[in-house]
Amino acid sequence: MEHIQVMGVQGLPLIHAGDNIAAMICERVPVWDNDILCIASTIYSKARGYTKLLSAITPSERAVRLGNLNGEDPRFVQAVLDASTDIIMEHPFILSELAFGHIGVRAGVDQSNIEDGMVIFLPPDPMKAADEVRAEIRSIAGVDIGVIITDTCGRSFRRGQTGNAIGWSGFPAIRDFRGDTDLFGHVLKITEEAVVDEIAGFANFVMGESNNGVPAVVFRNCPKWTGHDSLYFTNNEDITKRVLKKEWGQ
Ligand code: GDP
Ligand code: MN
Ligand code: MN
Repeated sequence: MEHIQVMGVQGLPLIHAGDNIAAMICERVPVWDNDILCIASTIYSKARGYTKLLSAITPSERAVRLGNLNGEDPRFVQAVLDASTDIIMEHPFILSELAFGHIGVRAGVDQSNIEDGMVIFLPPDPMKAADEVRAEIRSIAGVDIGVIITDTCGRSFRRGQTGNAIGWSGFPAIRDFRGDTDLFGHVLKITEEAVVDEIAGFANFVMGESNNGVPAVVFRNCPKWTGHDSLYFTNNEDITKRVLKKEWGQ
């Protein structure tokens, strides 16, 4: 049986706008057909310039109000509001939805691993980002790989953040077990496995959160899976979102 291999990409410099991260990764690690490359959204966004100087942001009245309420810089709050299409909770932190369907604390806007006074936004279209990186790797290295753009996210019910997939290319997000039978012949009715999040979670473990300097991780020999891409609940399906909005939304 083939063992799954996991390799953190060492030796990448600080990433700046305009950098070709696909090329920089290929220079440092061999990439093979069917590998899965996980990339921290942070470096994709820095490379593409999805960053902003706080001093260039003028907070709205709402941003000032929420800044006071949550003890945050109103300019940072404005960045979060700008990145959001729907505010689900205002306090004690902003929980909001982004255009591409992801729901996250502070809209995934980061102030870490970037110069003081700057914020990093999540890529506005992470599915396209993953497609792009995949195509670049194909043209540089001549291999067909899968790509996952990751971000570290908080979650409900449990303490501790984990890596989530916010964009992916080359495979479906979800491995669908519905219709399969278990060891006793029972037909599985509801089991769908969010494989891209599981892989992103392990990649996040290899990356670390602070000064590791490992923003990309390669997985080799992962088994293939089939399923679908409907990772995000529709409004109708999302019970938690409905309840939170009713209780806390504005
Ligand atoms: P996020 O999870 O996408 O928000 O990214 P993090 O800020 O948690 O960073 C994930 C990993 O990438 C950590 O190991 C960081 O030290 C590393 N990292 C972040 N930015 C850079 C960079 O510009 N260059 C390098 N080499 N590593 C970085
Ligand atoms: Mn982040
Ligand atoms: Mn992280």
